[in-house]
Amino acid sequence: SRKQLIAGNWKMFMNTQQAREFALDFQGRVADVTDKEIVICAPFTALHVLKEEWEEGIIHIGAQDVFYQKEGAYTGEISPAMLVDLACTYVIIGHSERRGYLKENDELIAQKIKAALENNLKPILCVGENLSQREDGKALSFVRSQVEKDLSELSSSDIGKIVIAYEPVWAIGTGKTASPQDAQEMCAAIRSTLAGIAGAAANNIQILYGGSVKADNIKELTKKKDIDGALVGGASLDPKQFADLIHNA
Ligand code: 13P
Repeated sequence: SRKQLIAGNWKMFMNTQQAREFALDFQGRVADVTDKEIVICAPFTALHVLKEEWEEGIIHIGAQDVFYQKEGAYTGEISPAMLVDLACTYVIIGHSERRGYLKENDELIAQKIKAALENNLKPILCVGENLSQREDGKALSFVRSQVEKDLSELSSSDIGKIVIAYEPVWAIGTGKTASPQDAQEMCAAIRSTLAGIAGAAANNIQILYGGSVKADNIKELTKKKDIDGALVGGASLDPKQFADLIHNA
């Protein structure tokens, strides 16, 4: 059976002082949580603070992106090894905001996932359709093809080491969540796509839902068979709200 994973994505919020205040407040609020994995994916500039406060604890530290090269003349980029040095064990890859604003494509994302795994970082691969794709009835086929392309660089044994987050673009930051039924349908389709490439390992892969998840709607999502947790934006910025969400999951 799969352990639940609740990951916060701080996006471009939290300076070092805010991160420190969060870190100190939050750790006591979730100290009792042993049955779920907790991750905070912070901006690069706050990672050292979380390392100082949490390195020995139960809260895992993640980044929101990574480059695929080991080192070199790649101005502005951050390598997998640099994240490991900052005590990161997770990294979000292929978030829709990076696909949109930064023009990241599936080929680049596939390289990033491979590089992350080579450095023992657990990728949280984000996939999801936009509103017109959903309205046109193309959501399932689009997301299946994203999964296939983004994992195309991996061996089937490596596929078992990733986490997938299904985040419909129209549900991010809008207050509109996918219905639990639609989210379950998509997560089941993702799992069957994974089974097609990696066989039985698909049963152990954590598949998360993301998009306007809050303390009061998390349970109806995680009750579903193929939804193993959540990737949470806005509601992960406040320590009490996020701790409540985790306890409710
Ligand atoms: P919100 O929870 O703010 O909708 O963001 C979801 C998200 O994009 C997490 O990666």
